[in-house]
Parts: sequence; C-alpha cells; structure tokens
Amino acid sequence: MEVTLLGTGDTTGTPTPDCDCATYEEAREPGDATRRRLRERGIDASGGVERSRFSVHVHNERTDEALLIDASPDFRHQFLTQDVGLPDEAVITHVHFDHLDGLGNAYRLFDDLPVHAPDEVDPLTDESVADTIRSKYDYLDRVTVHDRTPLEPFETCGFEVRLVPVEHPPMLCYGVAIEDPETGAKLSLTGDTNYAVPEESRDVLADPDLLLADGIVPADLCEHHPLGGDHHDAEGVPRTFGTKHMTREGALALADDLDADETRLVHVSHFYPADEAFAEPLAVDGEQYQL
Ligand SMILES: [Zn+2]
Ligand SMILES: [Zn+2]
Repeated sequence: MEVTLLGTGDTTGTPTPDCDCATYEEAREPGDATRRRLRERGIDASGGVERSRFSVHVHNERTDEALLIDASPDFRHQFLTQDVGLPDEAVITHVHFDHLDGLGNAYRLFDDLPVHAPDEVDPLTDESVADTIRSKYDYLDRVTVHDRTPLEPFETCGFEVRLVPVEHPPMLCYGVAIEDPETGAKLSLTGDTNYAVPEESRDVLADPDLLLADGIVPADLCEHHPLGGDHHDAEGVPRTFGTKHMTREGALALADDLDADETRLVHVSHFYPADEAFAEPLAVDGEQYQL
C-alpha cells in the first residue's frame, strides 16, 4: 500500500489567500530550517510548501489500482503536481466543500468513477452522504454512487474498507479504515472529527500502520474559538477545538488510544506558529508512505 498525502490542509488551505501571517510567509518562502526539515521527509520546498484541501491517494501495488479518499477542490492542481495516477475509485467521508467539491473534475477525465459513500440518513439534510452526491452530481453521468453501510466492510481496489461514524457536528461524518487483506497493511483516517470518536469506531480504526488524524490547531488556540475547547484531558488541555475538530493534543491522544505505529496530523490550519507549522508530526502535501 502506497499512501500519498495529496491535500493536508483545512478548508482555507495554507498559504491562505489574502493573509499576511508569519506562517503564510514561511509557506511562500520557506527558511533554511524548514527546507532542511522537509528535505529529510522527501519534500522539495524550494518553490514553497503547501497544504491544499483534504485528499489522500492510496495505491494498491498488488492490483495496480488506486483509491481516492475525498475529492478536494484542489483535485486538478494535486494531480498535476504530485506523482500519482488518477484514481480508479473514490470514497467520500462527508459533504463539506473541502472534501466533496473536487468531484466535478470527473467530467472528461474519467469514463466512470465509482464513488463509495455512507448510506445513513443525516437528520440535518434529510439525506445520506450518498444521496447528496447523487443529487449534486446528477448532471455528471461519469460518477456512479455506491451506498455503503457504516461499520460494514466492503471491497474496492483490492482493499477491505470500512466507514466509521465520527463526531463533526452538526453534520454526519465518517472516518475510514483501509486494509490490504493480503499484506495486512492498514491505514486509518479519523476524518473531520472532534475527540469523542465512538467506541465501536475506535475499535475499527485501532492498530493502524499509519493514522491520519485531524489536528487542526494547537490546543492553546482554543481560547480564540468562540466556543473554546472541549474534551479536556486530566491536565485540563482541550482535545477538541470548538466542536468540530481535534486539537493537536487531541489528535495525538487519539493516536495513543488507537495504538498507531505512525501518526501524521492532517486538516492542518495556518494558525500553527510559523516555527512549528512545517515540523513533524504535522503532514505536508506530497508526503508518501509505504505500508
Ligand atoms: Zn468538515
Ligand atoms: Zn474539512
């Protein structure tokens, strides 16, 4: 299993347009320390470093098929700048803009793109993620939506995949566990979520070789959120930023709970201070992992 992080940013991405923060400057023109750090991780940052909107490419080297997790609005840019082929199939975790709106790129690039999505009806929209995709992309006959029941395994691209409910209020959202039944390799993604991931979902996500965890900001930034933080640990550190996402500390605590071999924080905002923003365990676009 070869995992390529196509998009590791939050909904505005990094650099964020019309921003003049130090992290913006560091992304546009990385200093020597950042360049060196990123070179060690296989990233050439001489032309800048980026966190585009969320998407992950998972290549099955046994079957030579590729699965895309979420369709970033930066889809075109990602496939022009990263060294991966177009996917054979896709999974969508929820219907927020930054995870879904790249699907329109299927037009003329694909003859048919099977898209797997949860079938659970969201009281907020009165439809499931699968239904929303079906109605939104009704005009695109290239997209074929397959309804998938959360927690039940299905097969795609030679992988066994499970969607698991997470907590991203007020909307239904899902994490994803991807396993190669032949090699035993396992990738888990938390999806957009706060720290209160339900127990049965944790059981499915547990023991991954690589965990991609939503860690949008460091916990101390909760003081700037109108709702503050939530799910405080024994030291009083919030593991949830507002209500929708985990803090860095929350994401790392979840990684511990799940006993992940390796963890990268994704869905990262530009609010991390410039000297921490491009250091491990925060992911950047273009990182690749062999599981
Ligand atoms: Zn979201
Ligand atoms: Zn998001």
